[in-house]
Amino acid sequence: MADLTLMDKIVSLAKRRGFIYPGSEIYGGLANTYDYGPLGTELLRNIKNLWWHYFVQSRSDMVGLDASIISHQKVWQASGHVAGFADAMIDCKNCKARMRADHLLENYIETLPEEERKELLHNNLDDETDKSLVSALGTGKVEGLSLETLEKIRTIFSNKHNNPLRCPNCSKNDWTVIRRFNLLFPVQLGIVEGEGGMGYLRGETAQGIFINFRNVVDSTRVRLPFGIAQLGKSFRNEITPGNSVFRTIEFEQGEIEYFFDHEATNWEELFNKWENTMWDFVTKYLGINPEQLRWREHSDKERSFYSTRTEDLEYNFPFGFKELWGLAYRTNYDLTKHMDVSKKDLSIMDPQTGKKIVPHVIEPAVGINRLLLMVLLDAYTEQATSAGGSEGKRVVLNLHPKLAPYKVAIFPLLANKENLVEKAKGIYDELKKHFMVTFDARGNIGKRYLYQDEIGTPWCVTVDFDSLEDEAVTVRDRVTTKQERVAIKDLASYFSSKLA
Ligand code: ATP
Repeated sequence: MADLTLMDKIVSLAKRRGFIYPGSEIYGGLANTYDYGPLGTELLRNIKNLWWHYFVQSRSDMVGLDASIISHQKVWQASGHVAGFADAMIDCKNCKARMRADHLLENYIETLPEEERKELLHNNLDDETDKSLVSALGTGKVEGLSLETLEKIRTIFSNKHNNPLRCPNCSKNDWTVIRRFNLLFPVQLGIVEGEGGMGYLRGETAQGIFINFRNVVDSTRVRLPFGIAQLGKSFRNEITPGNSVFRTIEFEQGEIEYFFDHEATNWEELFNKWENTMWDFVTKYLGINPEQLRWREHSDKERSFYSTRTEDLEYNFPFGFKELWGLAYRTNYDLTKHMDVSKKDLSIMDPQTGKKIVPHVIEPAVGINRLLLMVLLDAYTEQATSAGGSEGKRVVLNLHPKLAPYKVAIFPLLANKENLVEKAKGIYDELKKHFMVTFDARGNIGKRYLYQDEIGTPWCVTVDFDSLEDEAVTVRDRVTTKQERVAIKDLASYFSSKLA
């Protein structure tokens, strides 16, 4: 069940507390762009660090890469993106809003009650459209359908006498035909005008890995099977309103190409292993509720022609179950294409058998910003409280401590007692050598707790008058709200062991 109120609450909290701001806001905003505030920057960094730690640092079969964001136009011609990386788009003739046709149709299907879906099946249709419509109404998915079929389904929805397909922006039912738009951003380089001086902002980080495959093999001691991992920005000229950072034109990807000899390694076993690894990362490292996650296998129509199997790990966002992380067996399509176009040998020699092969890959590809949005949504809770002097609700972001922007907040009990402030500042100065911490002396203690709960700080430390005598402080836990006395000298090791 969609919970759009939760989405509104998260968008508001994210803005109010400095996680996410609309892009170019003082100039009226720029659609599908966002800026990360002080807390969002920390959260994003923590997610990236955990990803890197889990998938690169803690494994002996992975190496990292940081390829250029701008690349040669031939990279994207060879990969097929120049010709085929396009979305089916539709415009509202009334308000001129442009949107993805597949999303428009899928969102519409989601709102249709069972009875109305049945009604729609009684159309006199050709076989292909009929099959596609039955599947779309059953699965809620239209991705991978041809422009022609999408257009026929769109017409059926628009002609529905009650509840026709309306523009989410202006509520009119007046559409252009569906057309394809390429998602790649061309960039004009240097002073050479025209085709020759053109490059592209990368549409995915994966191609940087394929074009550096030879370099990595020649410059390191990797042996099959092994993976190359990359974290970095990608750019897609996406036009989809709403849903915060779920879909943006500039976003951060975490992609892995895991290379293997398909004759020596069983791809299905490897695929299942990666499924488990991704699931563990999301549930154990990011602390996400497994009940909000599911796997969805791509249908033959939806899957890229070179992929043997693709599955999406989906999260139950307030706007429905949506892709979080894709897992695809891409065969050796990409390396082969780059060999064909570049005329460079991208094969690898097995030192034992002397056999030359172009390795196959399994690709887990995730959007870090989608992980961040999921983490915020999953952590959001409201509880009744009388703390802070006001009866009402306490908003708590139950972030995994490793993800929390601040690990510890340090307070002097009273802001106008110099000796308490000085003592608290001393603790702050010491702890900030080890962790991201914050100092707060505004308002009463109850209000400070409420503020820290709302931004997900796991522990608060209060320096009171006893601290001046016993060299101990009160540590309050965000989850249990229990308080305990801890010696000042033990604080760093106390928090380190909790974060281990
Ligand atoms: P979608 O179907 O949602 O457009 P995709 O299948 O095109 O995604 P991939 O090309 O497989 O996505 O990219 C891998 C991951 O990158 C996705 O699972 C998603 O988490 C993230 N991603 C893709 N496009 C965007 C975007 N425009 N904004 C934010 N994250 C994105």
